Amino acid sequence: MPNLDEAPRDGPVPAGVDIIVAGAGAIGLALSIALAKAGFSVLCLGPAITERNGRTVALLDGSVRMLKAIGVWPALAGRTAPLETMRLVDDTGSLFRVPPVDFVASEIGIDAFGHNVENADLVDVLDRRARQTNGFYRADALLSRHQVTDDGLVGTTDNGQTVRAKLLIAADGAASPARVAAHIPVRETAYPQTALTTVLEHDRPHRNISTEFHKRGGPFTLVPLPPSARATNRSSLVWVMRPEMATKRMALEQAALATAIETESHHLLGSVRVRDRVGAFPLRRVVAQRLIGPRLALAGEAAHALPPIGAQGLNLSFRDAATLVDCLAGARARGDDPGSAPVLGGYERARVGDIALRAAGVDTLNNALISEYLPVDLVRGAGLAALSALPALRRAVMRQGLRPQHAIPTLMR
Ligand SMILES: Cc1cc2nc3c(=O)[nH]c(=O)nc-3n(C[C@H](O)[C@H](O)[C@H](O)COP(=O)(O)OP(=O)(O)OC[C@H]3O[C@@H](n4cnc5c(N)ncnc54)[C@H](O)[C@@H]3O)c2cc1C
Repeated sequence: MPNLDEAPRDGPVPAGVDIIVAGAGAIGLALSIALAKAGFSVLCLGPAITERNGRTVALLDGSVRMLKAIGVWPALAGRTAPLETMRLVDDTGSLFRVPPVDFVASEIGIDAFGHNVENADLVDVLDRRARQTNGFYRADALLSRHQVTDDGLVGTTDNGQTVRAKLLIAADGAASPARVAAHIPVRETAYPQTALTTVLEHDRPHRNISTEFHKRGGPFTLVPLPPSARATNRSSLVWVMRPEMATKRMALEQAALATAIETESHHLLGSVRVRDRVGAFPLRRVVAQRLIGPRLALAGEAAHALPPIGAQGLNLSFRDAATLVDCLAGARARGDDPGSAPVLGGYERARVGDIALRAAGVDTLNNALISEYLPVDLVRGAGLAALSALPALRRAVMRQGLRPQHAIPTLMR
């Protein structure tokens, strides 16, 4: 494995490549590496943003397999924490209060449900790895427009450079300028909630248990992180609440915010310190109505941005990436044009079902939580009570949750 600290700086933008990837977030970079390894020449545009804002991602099995397949996982050693137990605690104050439910990975014979990592660490490691991959080109410039031609497309960067390609992949985030330019409509739902995110240092160990308190404002979730040079015990916090409460809490001094977090978590982790930046993310669901356009494929948040509930977002995006790689590598093996309509149609057909299912699931979960409508509370409470009391049911739910509902792409096998 090459030394990632010696990764070279950006090279010049070539006149032509097979594929342009707009966006150097986790998905743009992972896709670029995988496609370059599959033999394509790839230009990835946009800055790799490694600013720390408390955002962490819980990588589930398929995502970890893909990171292993593209040679990135070893470089994340020491930057991830395993999620061995997922604990759900009903803290809604509902009439039908139920005991906590523990989903324990070892109960179904696995070591961990997933691994939690800071988004900034993931992007940093992907960026370094990408710059050492043959066939990969990188520029910090943004894609400002693209124009479809008879046999491909021409992309233009915001500093006036042009590059020809057969396909543009938009991995340029939820606002996706490339998706907007292609006039692909989205279905958007804004939730009356904001997620505050930060990294906590605390006195008591988390014991690799992720704890999700179900509260009326939304989930309050503590997810294990590995030790840092500064602190042994660390967790990330995703705290979903009404926007006006988020504004108030963002204005608190770090010590006062730490006290509020201790109270909200019932002192689960002992004394808490907030030293990192606090991020605020208004919750919304944005789902593109098409995943493709002429010589264009959408992936990651450009295709679907979901609220941070149930660790769905980035894992769904990794499945986009791995599926797209299969479609494009298949086209390459057959000698087909990777940007042709039949190839892109295959990608869209393979992904729509999974995306619709996850988007609906996250919506239902969130609405069940914030609803104070008695029958909804009753069903939610009864479900949790049954899970708490019946180990066989719990194991069945865990296995079902981990079983893929879709064809498994090659990079995730
Ligand atoms: C609070 C929070 C917690 C979350 N927790 C989880 C979790 O536990 N598990 C999980 O699976 N997911 C989680 N998610 C979702 C996950 O963080 C996102 O799905 C993921 O980061 C999105 O990656 P992306 O590469 O698609 O988009 P982004 O990270 O948004 O990257 C897009 C990039 O494109 C760039 N760009 C924009 N315009 C252009 C242009 N014109 N040209 C070039 N580049 C451009 C941007 O600068 C950006 O760097 C969470 C999200 C939030 C908000």
